[in-house]
Amino acid sequence: MSIIEKNVSEIAHMVSSGQVKAEEVMVAFIKQSEKLNPKLNAFITMNDQAIQQAKEVDAKIAKKQNPGRLAGVPVAVKDMLCTKNLKTTAGSKILENFVPTYSATVVNRLEAEGAITIGKANQDEFAMGSSNETSAYGDCKNPWSLEHVPGGSSGGSAAAVAAKMSPLAIGTDTGGSIRQPASFCGVVGVKPTYGRVSRYGIVAYASSLDQAGPLTPTVRDSALSLEVMSGKDHLDMTSSNQAVPEWSKNLNPNLKGMKIGLPKEYFTDKLSPNSAAAIDRAKEIVKDSGAEFVEVSIPYTKLGVPMYYIIATCEASSNLARYDGVRYGFRADFSKDRPDDIDDFYSRTRGEGFGPEVKRRIMLGTYALSSGYYDAYYKKACQVRRMLRQNFIDAFQKCDVLLSPVYTTPAFKLGSRIQNPVDMYFNDVFTTSTNLAGLPGMSLPAGFSKEGLPIGIQLTAGHFEEQKMLNVGYAIEQSLKLNEVPSVIR
Ligand code: GLN
Repeated sequence: MSIIEKNVSEIAHMVSSGQVKAEEVMVAFIKQSEKLNPKLNAFITMNDQAIQQAKEVDAKIAKKQNPGRLAGVPVAVKDMLCTKNLKTTAGSKILENFVPTYSATVVNRLEAEGAITIGKANQDEFAMGSSNETSAYGDCKNPWSLEHVPGGSSGGSAAAVAAKMSPLAIGTDTGGSIRQPASFCGVVGVKPTYGRVSRYGIVAYASSLDQAGPLTPTVRDSALSLEVMSGKDHLDMTSSNQAVPEWSKNLNPNLKGMKIGLPKEYFTDKLSPNSAAAIDRAKEIVKDSGAEFVEVSIPYTKLGVPMYYIIATCEASSNLARYDGVRYGFRADFSKDRPDDIDDFYSRTRGEGFGPEVKRRIMLGTYALSSGYYDAYYKKACQVRRMLRQNFIDAFQKCDVLLSPVYTTPAFKLGSRIQNPVDMYFNDVFTTSTNLAGLPGMSLPAGFSKEGLPIGIQLTAGHFEEQKMLNVGYAIEQSLKLNEVPSVIR
């Protein structure tokens, strides 16, 4: 079995016990990435220091120093996360030459435990999208079928893990961007409780919704990686000082006594028959593992998408105001045609630097925040958000974990939805509410469609109850034992 077949926990164990060198691991994954990136476009930038950094992990081991819990594990970092001395574009032309002078806290924490950034993963521009098609650096393809999208916005992260270009990837999830691509690419993806993970050094899209999390081959890998990423950071005031449990050590597939809620609003006729079948299989496993089912209701589900697209665009319009051609990255070429005034300077830079989806959202957000509309849109959305959150809190009085679909369908074809943004938005119906309520959620592989595309299911838990959700995921994973590999590496 070659090293790229191994998962995060196995690699960390093999490296720290001296069975394999971190350098060999890195070389193997770089080779796989060089072979497949021309087909998949999962990486925007490779880290040319990766092998050197792997050697440093090996040197630590040779000196009998503790190499960390993720010793020698390559990590594909979504291009939303700042990486010191390594280009960070957020998938946008406006940051095409931005090289940060510092790394995101999450990246520092992973590296402090021995993980090594292999490269920067492709994504939708500023994480706005569900298909990776809004990236300024080209579409990323789904490793299971090159005609299909990998999902978004963390499409490159999910594709890299599925195609064994990296055992671990980091994504960000504002309204589903870890869970949905994880489900399209057949990997595990976890979005933690809002506040679990520091947002410091992560390019801001919608600050009250954004969280980073892992994408990995297995539930245990995600649990372990999230342990490393989580915890209070004095550089992010919204990071929580809740203790970080050892989720990976506490995994327990025995679900006796657990109550699994089925939110009735999530089981609509929008759901494809393939996805419904995968859910039914997961339900059987959960039942055999000792859990009981209860039907619950999240009445405000139908408002999740409209609420999300108001709140997220409002926050984005403010967050993206900083890209003005002065402070970061790209500036329009004024060498032949000088700007008339400062407004002309900004608008030409922003007009050329941002893609169409980002412009649409900035306009939506500024409109909803403008005087006369603020109360009707933004304020109203915030009020309803509070009520949605209460719906979930009430539901978690009756159950421990919610089981639901992640997305209405398996991966769709490249080009098939990008012309119809509203349609694209409405398909985020099962993921956006989780972020609005600040809850942890995850997606894990649960089967395949007739066409051989992966299908994921979603688990959601109460605030800071990641362990319960991971346990249910672990029970399903252990029983399903899916081991198919994507066509691109077969
Ligand atoms: N698909 C959603 C959007 O387009 C979610 C994106 C995300 O989570 N970053 O905004």
